[in-house]
Amino acid sequence: MKKNETIANLKTETGFCKYCKQGRAVQIGEDQIYSQADLDNIASSECTCDGARHAQEKENRIRRAKDAIDKITVDGEKEVGDFLKSALSLLADHKIKKLSVNINGIVTYTVLRGNEEQLSMQRRETITEGDEIE
Ligand SMILES: [Zn+2]
Repeated sequence: MKKNETIANLKTETGFCKYCKQGRAVQIGEDQIYSQADLDNIASSECTCDGARHAQEKENRIRRAKDAIDKITVDGEKEVGDFLKSALSLLADHKIKKLSVNINGIVTYTVLRGNEEQLSMQRRETITEGDEIE
Protein backbone atom coordinates (compact mmCIF):
# COMPACT_ATOMS: atom_id res chain seq x y z
CA MET A 1 0.00 0.00 0.00
CA LYS A 2 1.26 3.43 -0.95
CA LYS A 3 1.46 5.95 1.83
CA ASN A 4 0.61 9.06 -0.13
CA GLU A 5 -2.57 8.09 -1.87
CA THR A 6 -4.32 10.87 -3.68
CA ILE A 7 -8.04 11.11 -3.25
CA ALA A 8 -9.69 10.44 -6.57
CA ASN A 9 -12.11 12.96 -7.95
CA LEU A 10 -15.66 11.76 -8.00
CA LYS A 11 -18.19 11.82 -10.76
CA THR A 12 -21.90 11.22 -10.47
CA GLU A 13 -23.72 8.52 -12.39
CA THR A 14 -27.29 7.31 -12.09
CA GLY A 15 -28.18 3.86 -10.82
CA PHE A 16 -31.67 2.45 -10.56
CA CYS A 17 -32.91 0.57 -7.52
CA LYS A 18 -33.70 -3.03 -8.51
CA TYR A 19 -36.77 -3.01 -6.27
CA CYS A 20 -38.56 0.32 -6.67
CA LYS A 21 -36.86 1.32 -9.99
CA GLN A 22 -36.11 4.79 -8.67
CA GLY A 23 -33.02 6.50 -10.00
CA ARG A 24 -30.38 7.53 -7.48
CA ALA A 25 -27.20 9.55 -7.87
CA VAL A 26 -24.21 7.27 -7.37
CA GLN A 27 -20.77 8.77 -6.83
CA ILE A 28 -17.85 6.87 -8.25
CA GLY A 29 -14.21 7.67 -8.91
CA GLU A 30 -13.61 9.82 -11.98
CA ASP A 31 -11.48 7.17 -13.68
CA GLN A 32 -13.66 4.21 -12.73
CA ILE A 33 -15.90 2.48 -15.22
CA TYR A 34 -19.02 0.83 -13.89
CA SER A 35 -21.57 -1.10 -15.89
CA GLN A 36 -25.22 -0.11 -15.50
CA ALA A 37 -25.71 -3.35 -13.52
CA ASP A 38 -22.97 -2.26 -11.07
CA LEU A 39 -24.56 1.18 -10.72
CA ASP A 40 -27.94 -0.45 -10.15
CA ASN A 41 -26.41 -2.67 -7.43
CA ILE A 42 -24.95 0.38 -5.67
CA ALA A 43 -28.26 2.26 -5.94
CA SER A 44 -30.10 -0.78 -4.54
CA SER A 45 -27.69 -1.03 -1.62
CA GLU A 46 -28.32 2.62 -0.73
CA CYS A 47 -32.05 2.84 -1.36
CA THR A 48 -34.46 2.89 1.60
CA CYS A 49 -37.53 1.34 -0.03
CA ASP A 50 -39.00 -1.84 1.51
CA GLY A 51 -37.57 -4.19 -1.11
CA ALA A 52 -34.08 -2.71 -0.87
CA ARG A 53 -34.14 -2.69 2.95
CA HIS A 54 -35.22 -6.33 2.95
CA ALA A 55 -32.31 -7.22 0.65
CA GLN A 56 -29.84 -5.18 2.75
CA GLU A 57 -30.98 -6.99 5.91
CA LYS A 58 -30.48 -10.30 4.16
CA GLU A 59 -26.97 -9.29 3.12
CA ASN A 60 -26.20 -8.24 6.71
CA ARG A 61 -27.44 -11.55 8.08
CA ILE A 62 -25.28 -13.43 5.59
CA ARG A 63 -22.23 -11.29 6.44
CA ARG A 64 -22.69 -11.86 10.18
CA ALA A 65 -23.18 -15.59 9.58
CA LYS A 66 -19.93 -15.74 7.58
CA ASP A 67 -18.09 -14.12 10.50
CA ALA A 68 -19.66 -16.61 12.88
CA ILE A 69 -18.62 -19.54 10.67
CA ASP A 70 -15.06 -18.18 10.65
CA LYS A 71 -15.14 -18.11 14.46
CA ILE A 72 -16.33 -21.67 14.97
CA THR A 73 -14.34 -23.33 12.19
CA VAL A 74 -11.12 -24.89 13.47
CA ASP A 75 -7.87 -25.26 11.52
CA GLY A 76 -7.98 -28.09 9.03
CA GLU A 77 -11.72 -27.64 8.49
CA LYS A 78 -11.63 -24.28 6.71
CA GLU A 79 -12.81 -25.78 3.40
CA VAL A 80 -15.89 -27.03 5.19
CA GLY A 81 -16.45 -23.52 6.52
CA ASP A 82 -16.18 -22.13 2.99
CA PHE A 83 -18.67 -24.71 1.78
CA LEU A 84 -21.13 -23.71 4.50
CA LYS A 85 -20.66 -20.02 3.62
CA SER A 86 -21.54 -20.78 0.01
CA ALA A 87 -24.86 -22.24 1.20
CA LEU A 88 -25.91 -19.24 3.30
CA SER A 89 -27.79 -17.50 0.49
CA LEU A 90 -29.85 -20.69 0.02
CA LEU A 91 -30.81 -20.46 3.68
CA ALA A 92 -31.55 -16.74 3.49
CA ASP A 93 -33.59 -17.24 0.30
CA HIS A 94 -35.71 -19.97 1.92
CA LYS A 95 -34.44 -22.61 -0.49
CA ILE A 96 -33.26 -24.69 2.43
CA LYS A 97 -33.88 -24.50 6.17
CA LYS A 98 -30.89 -26.38 7.50
CA LEU A 99 -27.66 -27.95 6.33
CA SER A 100 -25.59 -30.40 8.33
CA VAL A 101 -22.17 -31.65 7.30
CA ASN A 102 -20.56 -34.55 9.08
CA ILE A 103 -16.81 -34.65 8.66
CA ASN A 104 -15.57 -37.90 10.11
CA GLY A 105 -18.38 -39.41 12.15
CA ILE A 106 -17.38 -37.21 15.08
CA VAL A 107 -17.51 -33.57 14.01
CA THR A 108 -20.72 -32.10 12.61
CA TYR A 109 -21.25 -28.55 11.37
CA THR A 110 -24.81 -27.29 11.12
CA VAL A 111 -26.13 -24.02 9.72
CA LEU A 112 -29.82 -23.25 10.01
CA ARG A 113 -32.37 -20.49 9.58
CA GLY A 114 -34.48 -19.75 12.62
CA ASN A 115 -38.09 -18.56 12.75
CA GLU A 116 -36.97 -14.94 13.07
CA GLU A 117 -34.85 -15.28 9.90
CA GLN A 118 -31.67 -15.39 11.97
CA LEU A 119 -28.94 -17.68 10.70
CA SER A 120 -27.16 -19.74 13.30
CA MET A 121 -24.37 -22.24 13.16
CA GLN A 122 -22.93 -24.89 15.37
CA ARG A 123 -19.91 -27.18 15.49
CA ARG A 124 -20.56 -30.35 17.44
CA GLU A 125 -18.03 -32.96 18.39
CA THR A 126 -19.41 -36.25 19.62
CA ILE A 127 -17.08 -38.39 21.65
CA THR A 128 -18.52 -41.77 22.42
CA GLU A 129 -17.61 -43.26 25.77
CA GLY A 130 -14.82 -45.75 25.52
CA ASP A 131 -13.09 -43.94 22.68
CA GLU A 132 -9.37 -43.69 23.06
CA ILE A 133 -8.23 -40.12 23.32
CA GLU A 134 -4.64 -39.44 22.46
ZN1 LIG B 1 -35.64 1.17 -3.87
